[in-house]
Amino acid sequence: MILGLGILSSSRVCLVIRRSKLSGWISLDPPFGCPRIIKQASTSSQVPLEIWSLIWGIKCPPKIRKFLWCALRRGLATNENLYRRRVRSSPLCALCHQYEESVKHILLLCPWVSPVWFGGVLSMRICKSEITTMCEWLLKVVIWASLNKADLAHVANSIAFTCWIIWKFRCKVVIEGRPMSPLATIFATELEFVDAVTATRLDCPSPTLVETTSYAWIPPVLHRVKINLDVAWSPTSNQGGIGLVVRDYMGTFFLAMAIPCMANSVQEAEALAAVEACSLAIEHGFRHVQFESDCLEVVRGISDNIRRGRWELYPLLCRIQDQLGHPNFEFSSWTWRPRSANVVADHIVNLA
Ligand SMILES: [Zn+2]
Repeated sequence: MILGLGILSSSRVCLVIRRSKLSGWISLDPPFGCPRIIKQASTSSQVPLEIWSLIWGIKCPPKIRKFLWCALRRGLATNENLYRRRVRSSPLCALCHQYEESVKHILLLCPWVSPVWFGGVLSMRICKSEITTMCEWLLKVVIWASLNKADLAHVANSIAFTCWIIWKFRCKVVIEGRPMSPLATIFATELEFVDAVTATRLDCPSPTLVETTSYAWIPPVLHRVKINLDVAWSPTSNQGGIGLVVRDYMGTFFLAMAIPCMANSVQEAEALAAVEACSLAIEHGFRHVQFESDCLEVVRGISDNIRRGRWELYPLLCRIQDQLGHPNFEFSSWTWRPRSANVVADHIVNLA
C-alpha cells in the first residue's frame, strides 16, 4: 500500500514509500527500481500485543500510560537515544556514568533504583542478568502475575507508578541537581498511587499475590507485618550492610532501614541482621511479625536448636531468642526465601 512520499537524501529526491508485507519499509528509486528495505519496522510493532493491552488496561492517570508508551517506543530523551541522534556526546548514564542510559537502565538497572523496586509494594529484586529488554521484563512479570486479573492489575499498577516516579525523580536529580533518595521515591510512589485512587476511585491493591517466581513477595496474613532482611558483606574489609523492609498484609510499606555492620562472615552478618530486625520490631511495637531472610543457616538456627548451628553464631542466636521472648511479641515466625540476586544488598551496603 502506498503511504506517502518522502525525501531520503539530497541525491535521491523523491521516493515512493510503501509498506512491506515482510516487516519494514521499502523504497523504490525512480523510476521504480529494485525494492530494498531502508528502515526496520517501527518499534511499536515490535512490542508484544500483551504488553500494549496491559499498558492500556492499567488504571492510572493518562500521563503515566503515555509515559510507558513513550518508554517502550524509545520515545524518552535518554542519553542513548540522544547520542544516536548526535545530540549528546556520550550515551552513558548521567547518574552512574557506567552504562548506556537506555530506558531499561533508567527504570530498572541504574544502581539507585534497585532499593526503590525492593522497597516498593512488590518488593521486586531486579536481576540484571535476567533482563534483555524492558518489554521482555514486562512479559515475564505479566506471566508471573497472570494468575488472576486482580493480581495482574495490582502488579501492573504498581509497576506503572514506580516507573513514572523513578523517571520524575531522576529528572529532578539530573536537571535540578536535587539529591537522590530511594526512600523519598518509594514514599512518592505510594503517595501518587493514593492520590490516583482518591481522584479516580481505583480499586485498592489486591492482597492476594502468590509467589510463583523469584520476583514475588508473599504478603503476611491479616494483621501481621513482614520484615524482609537482606545483607551484603565484603570478605576483604569485613564491612557489611544490613537492609530491612517492613510491610503489612496489604503490602503497604511502613519503613526501611539501612544499617552498616562489621562481621567475620556473611552468616554472622545475616545473624546481625536478624538481631536488628528483632530490635526494630520491638522498638516499633510490631506484635505479630513474620521475618523473612535468605540465609537458611540463620533461619534454621533460630527456628530449630541453636546449639546445632555454627559456634560463631551462638551468641547472636541466643540474643535473637531472648529478643523473641520479649513480651512485645505475641507471634513471630522465620521463613527462608531464596536469594535470586545480590543486587539490592549491594546497594544497601552503599546506603549503609
Ligand atoms: Zn545509571
